[in-house]
Amino acid sequence: MAKEIRIHNNLSRKKEVFQSITPGEVKYYSCGPTTYDFLHIGNARALVVGDLFHRVLRSFGYRVNFVRNYTDVDDKIIERAKEQKRDPIEHSALFVKECETDMNSLGMMPATHTPKVSETMPEIIKMIEDIIRNKKAYVVDGEVFFDVPSFADYGKLSKKDLDSLQHGIRVDVDTRKKNPADFVLWKPAKTGEPSWDSPWGKGRPGWHIECSAMAKKFLGNTLDLHHGGVDLMFPHHENEIAQSEAANNCSFCHHWAHNEFLNFGTEKMSKSLGNVVKIRDFVNKYGGQVLRHILLTVHYRARLEWTDEVVQRGIDEVRRIHEFALEVNTFKASGNGTDPEIENCISRMEEELSNDFNSAGALGQFFVFLRYVKTKRDQLSHESLATVHRTIKFVQESMGLINASPENVLSSLSRLDHDSAAAGVDGVWIENLIEERKTAKAQKNWKLADEIRKELNAQNIVLKDNPDGSTSWKIG
Ligand code: AMP
Ligand code: ZN
Repeated sequence: MAKEIRIHNNLSRKKEVFQSITPGEVKYYSCGPTTYDFLHIGNARALVVGDLFHRVLRSFGYRVNFVRNYTDVDDKIIERAKEQKRDPIEHSALFVKECETDMNSLGMMPATHTPKVSETMPEIIKMIEDIIRNKKAYVVDGEVFFDVPSFADYGKLSKKDLDSLQHGIRVDVDTRKKNPADFVLWKPAKTGEPSWDSPWGKGRPGWHIECSAMAKKFLGNTLDLHHGGVDLMFPHHENEIAQSEAANNCSFCHHWAHNEFLNFGTEKMSKSLGNVVKIRDFVNKYGGQVLRHILLTVHYRARLEWTDEVVQRGIDEVRRIHEFALEVNTFKASGNGTDPEIENCISRMEEELSNDFNSAGALGQFFVFLRYVKTKRDQLSHESLATVHRTIKFVQESMGLINASPENVLSSLSRLDHDSAAAGVDGVWIENLIEERKTAKAQKNWKLADEIRKELNAQNIVLKDNPDGSTSWKIG
């Protein structure tokens, strides 16, 4: 029997005991990335939280059918491909590969299915046909719109009511729409854009329909759990519900969970503010284990404020955990008997995780255990030592917070120390200044960017700006 778990369900805005349609099985969908560029650490939060749900449910004994899509047909992709003189689908394929590299470095467990929009066209077209047949969508000049007022439950997830929505939208948006809140299911493609044949002419899908179609293709009409970043709740998830329920005439999903954002202090991470940190850049410097760790030290429904202190604490904790994971291999057991402090750690962590995936709480329990085991290192019984190994394996499998190769994690951290020690300065301090300089440059604050370079030069640190936009440093 799978263990009980309580999940905060955004449909009811309450924490509820999770009940799946088929006992012991979970049909789970998470909205994946748009593959137009390298992903940033905010995207990483959404990915790692999606992975946490997958791992915890599995470790609680559920069979999980987990679908995480790639949005590989999208305006941003078409725009970026044009700039780089690449075919849009080829451009996407390139960044799907880069995304997979990032996900591996974050220690993500593979999803059951990772569909792409470009490979789901027949299902997307069929679903739009079903919605039209059910009189919840209409066609205007090769374009298909969802008829929002025809769907009585619109707004049930985001708690928006249609009247205020209609008034909130500028009326001049699109005169072909019957109602301002209607949204696009299919649009005609412009020349040079990727397009597919459809009953409404050559075109491509609107953004929202892909997730409804992919969910149905791999999970059926009704899902148990759906996840995404909190920004997706409206309109994306609201529209997914409208489309799926209008096409299938039944409930789309029973539990909705959204992760909060990762911010820089009080600022959102965004390209326009120039404070975007790519997963690849962070991982190259600190390793993926540190990023994963930081992302799971805060409950997924709380905002994560990204600061120098948060990064430093992440490094320190990853080091402590992985030193411990290596050290226990040298412990010698003697005698028999059990110790409740050691035996109970897994169930304490499970209790935390069963409370709406509280990874921060579970990690806290593990640190209590780690300190205790270290004090008993010379007095562990055979049973206790076996439990220590089992506990480490639990942390590895349920949260991915212990790497299968602690040696690799420690050696990348010691490289960080070595670089810093050689320079006689703090590596984190240098990286932070480089980030500040990048922000200054993005804001065209050349004076500040120059001052930062000089400040580093004064410490014998030389910066090199690379063609891909990143900056590396060496001792001068
Ligand atoms: P996008 O590529 O913008 O469609 O985003 C992909 C996923 O990353 C979505 O689930 C977003 O909600 C999530 N996301 C984007 N920025 C952040 C952020 N700063 N913090 C947390 N999640 C984010
Ligand atoms: Zn989606």
